[in-house]
Amino acid sequence: MQTLRRASAPPRRYLSDTPASRKALPFSLNTLRSSEDRADQGNVLRLVMFGKPGAGKGTLSARLVKKYDIASLSTGDLLRQHIAERTEVGREAEEIVAQGKLLPDDVMLKVVASKLDHIRNKHWILDGFPRTVPQGELLDAHLKKQGTPLSLVVNLDVPDEVILSRISDRWVHLPSGRVYNVSYNPPKVDGFDDETGEPLTKRPDDNPEIFARRLTQFYASTSPLIAYYTRAAQTPTRLPRAPDRNQHPHQLAFPPAHRLLLKTLAGTTSDEIWPQLDALVRDAFPALRETAASLETRRRHSLSDAVLAADLSASTRGDS
Ligand code: ATP
Ligand code: MG
Repeated sequence: MQTLRRASAPPRRYLSDTPASRKALPFSLNTLRSSEDRADQGNVLRLVMFGKPGAGKGTLSARLVKKYDIASLSTGDLLRQHIAERTEVGREAEEIVAQGKLLPDDVMLKVVASKLDHIRNKHWILDGFPRTVPQGELLDAHLKKQGTPLSLVVNLDVPDEVILSRISDRWVHLPSGRVYNVSYNPPKVDGFDDETGEPLTKRPDDNPEIFARRLTQFYASTSPLIAYYTRAAQTPTRLPRAPDRNQHPHQLAFPPAHRLLLKTLAGTTSDEIWPQLDALVRDAFPALRETAASLETRRRHSLSDAVLAADLSASTRGDS
């Protein structure tokens, strides 16, 4: 009986979603179109890319950014820039990064928080942060204050032996963070960045000895975050909504619950993982828009496919 009642019960809705209230409260409807409300519905991508060092977090983030209108922040890239510019954070980070150790959580939050504030109204990806459970908690507290909680955590699952064999082949373009791999994703010109033509460099922490330490560090301090996010994904949260003077009192219904999505994507190369990641974000975040460059590339591909198909049918008909 109880089950029947539940099944036939109408879905719980905002007052402002009913036809009557749509007529009665036209101006306050705008408040429900704010980014905060879209976020509640899980439409804004706020993604933590999670995985071992060398798992392909940077490579896959770059592919998402190329295809969709998404901002991205990599703490590794940010720190390497701080080090190159010899800022206060950079001077503190240099030794720690070179040894494959982790920077203190409060320093990292400072590095990330102001950058996050700049992109709070966008879809975004975080690569390399959080790396410890306390960093995860600091991040959640910061995002909760903003009313912009995480919507997706992607756990990249790549075997250790694959990662270890990759690392000695890796070269980076420091200013942009673009990553190349001489055996599977080489630059067009050996030793130089495809986009700027500037020289590529080897990261000082990409050598077997330091890398082994980074992997150990990952298992000790970073992997417990998976349990943390598993719990978070099982617990829907309701975000406090800021009071709105224009809002009709009847509109003060419960805000919808926000639920974090946690997905593990497994593979041995980024090419293998990419289609899974692309399908995941496309399905879960339909509000994502493709970049003009990506649309143009697809238009060119479909044009050349059409030309190829026309050529093929002409040649099977025996046209010259
Ligand atoms: P990859 O670039 O292949 O994903 P990675 O994840 O080990 O490898 P980066 O994210 O580039 O490397 O980070 C490089 C180094 O910067 C880390 O080894 C660490 O010393 C420091 N670092 C980066 N992010 C953090 C963080 N959230 N907390 C503490 N230290 C960090
Ligand atoms: Mg990286």
